[in-house]
Amino acid sequence: MEQRTVVRCAEGHLFSTSTFPMQMLGPRRLGPGRLIRCPQCGRLRSSVPADVSELSEPQLARAMRLEAAEFLA
Ligand SMILES: [Zn+2]
Repeated sequence: MEQRTVVRCAEGHLFSTSTFPMQMLGPRRLGPGRLIRCPQCGRLRSSVPADVSELSEPQLARAMRLEAAEFLA
């Protein structure tokens, strides 16, 4: 089963990625973020895991449809 993480870019866009290293960043530990190419900005952005409990169903559904293709450390 594919595990995807909902993340939020520095501009506030929500999207999902299957490559976010959750083993390094727990859901409650917002670290410095990771550089991920945001599908909405089209740029590498410092992104952190979003707190899914704070998101509405539509926000979550939208984020799940927007998957980041690239991941850089
Ligand atoms: Zn963005």
